[in-house]
Amino acid sequence: MARLDTEIPMLRTSERQGFKRCRQRFWWGSVEGLRSPQTRAALDFGTIIHECMEKFYIPGRKRGPKPVVTFRRLIKEHGDFNMNEYDENDNKTRRSAAELGESMMLTYYEKYGADEDIAIIAPEFPFRIRLTDAGGKDFWYVGRFDALGLWLPTDSPFIFEHKTGSEQLKSMLWGDEQTSSYWAFAPQYIAALQRNKMLRRFKGLELEMMLFNFMGKRMPDERPMNSEGLRLNKNGTVSKRQPKEQFERIPAYRDEDDRKSVIKRIKQEMYEIRLVREGKLPVYKNFTKDCSWDCQFRDMCELHETRSDWRSYRNQMYVESDGYAEYAHDLGFKSPMEFMEVK
Ligand code: SF4
Repeated sequence: MARLDTEIPMLRTSERQGFKRCRQRFWWGSVEGLRSPQTRAALDFGTIIHECMEKFYIPGRKRGPKPVVTFRRLIKEHGDFNMNEYDENDNKTRRSAAELGESMMLTYYEKYGADEDIAIIAPEFPFRIRLTDAGGKDFWYVGRFDALGLWLPTDSPFIFEHKTGSEQLKSMLWGDEQTSSYWAFAPQYIAALQRNKMLRRFKGLELEMMLFNFMGKRMPDERPMNSEGLRLNKNGTVSKRQPKEQFERIPAYRDEDDRKSVIKRIKQEMYEIRLVREGKLPVYKNFTKDCSWDCQFRDMCELHETRSDWRSYRNQMYVESDGYAEYAHDLGFKSPMEFMEVK
């Protein structure tokens, strides 16, 4: 088993995405480790929902505790908080996480029940792969996929990936960097599972697809329905505003060429990231219309841009954390399964 080697940098998908979105944001978030306590809410909610899924989709065809049972326990331990709920048009309102999560997990089970078409081959586990960036330096690529499953009607092995929110992603599944990286490294982690005798029954297993398990962060639409399942207005007419599916399963297919493209891109990106970290490439901002909602540093960025006292703001509004230490802890790097090395 390899050990966590802190001399070799780690890279994760969210960091790559952050870097490409805006180098200034990457610098504040990934290099300085600044975190706004307010952004924890969405992260915490997603983590809790993922844990509900993890406890539900245990190895084999049997299911663990119903998602709502796990949710009630976790939200009680964590404490309630307010978070954003998104309607079918992606408009947001604030809602109690306890109320929203309870409703989501109840509705999820109503829709899928015990999910009898799915067998779980291997539940959630972290991985890391040693790679060499485009400039010749080694790094670890780290991640954690949600589950390796078998779609029983067609006997198809698949990566099961839970997504909370992410409506816009549905039209761009082929370009989702997170699952693309899981696909890219699948042969290595399947080999590792087999080395660790976790896949004895699946010799020669080859992935066929990824199955996205979308869970919309919203309460069910409680307006009355007609016999065709269409929502009605108060006067009984059919509403023009029909809800999107709150829960949706979408398969995605990749091949060997996708794999090569993803690995090449990861190495190229890591090269640039290293040069920025080493001060050999500049840090600059990338203003877009999305800055108003997708950046936790938006207000500080404005102060920085106008050369006002942004440092005082930073000291008051953000806490510093070691994202990698947290991540290593989250990934459970001390357990014996995680490490695979590829050269
Ligand atoms: S507000 Fe926009 S430009 Fe400024 S740091 Fe954030 S993402 Fe970058």
